[in-house]
Amino acid sequence: AQAALFQSQKMEAVGQLTGGIAHDFNNLLTVIVNNLDLLTRGARDARETRLIESAQRAAERGAKLTQQLLAFSRRQPLQPSLHNPKKLIEGFEAVLRRACGEMIKLQFSMPTRIRSVNVDAPQFEAALLNLVVNARDAMPEGGKLMITVNNAVLKEHEAVSSGLRPGPYVSISVRDTGHGMTPEVVSHIFEPFFTTKEVGKGTGLGLSQVYGFVNQSGGHVDVNSTPGEGTKFTMLLPAQEDGEDAPEEQNAGVARPAK
Ligand code: ADP
Repeated sequence: AQAALFQSQKMEAVGQLTGGIAHDFNNLLTVIVNNLDLLTRGARDARETRLIESAQRAAERGAKLTQQLLAFSRRQPLQPSLHNPKKLIEGFEAVLRRACGEMIKLQFSMPTRIRSVNVDAPQFEAALLNLVVNARDAMPEGGKLMITVNNAVLKEHEAVSSGLRPGPYVSISVRDTGHGMTPEVVSHIFEPFFTTKEVGKGTGLGLSQVYGFVNQSGGHVDVNSTPGEGTKFTMLLPAQEDGEDAPEEQNAGVARPAK
């Protein structure tokens, strides 16, 4: 509990600090990107075009980074509502596939009936994307990425050890066959700005978002990793009691009676 408190204070401080800077930077970068855009049209030769394009890429990278900082620092309250996690994931599948690229075999395993969870949908998608992007980055030579969704029930004694309430949950895990992590790396991964990726590639904010989202949703995130073998992240999100499931999505293409 102490560590969790420390973590949340640290995130709070980082959030306040970065929020103001990121906002100003975002405005400045918009000016730079727009002006570079105008400049490309008037470039006199290939060299000028190359230079301008390189500046554009750098500015776009900067804009992306500041946007992430902004999203991270904005302490806007989540707007949770009841969702069928399966439907959320299916609706987001195309984005996930694009993020994975061709080298990675992305597979899903979801039971037909899954309990509903009370989450902020965009934050849920962002968390899933962050986990998938990390898994992809851990498999530069390609590999397998498995997303598994399951109903779970936490008994009293299991709940206590993770600081959760006993009851129904939905677990969503993202497993890769990538390079894995040492225990030393694992002990830092949820800290804001911790990254092992090369400069310009990682921000160290992906897992902070996941951590923040899951905790604010009343859940828990867990990691299992073996160097050289792979990593599995599991988000445990509180679910509706049985009998309160959101309606199942019908199979596409099957005619259904009009309401
Ligand atoms: P970033 O991806 O920008 O580095 P994150 O907070 O998302 O920031 O991740 C922090 C670090 O955790 C990564 O730099 C990497 O070292 C480690 N990591 C996260 N996910 C994985 C994974 N699936 N496999 C191996 N290492 C991982």
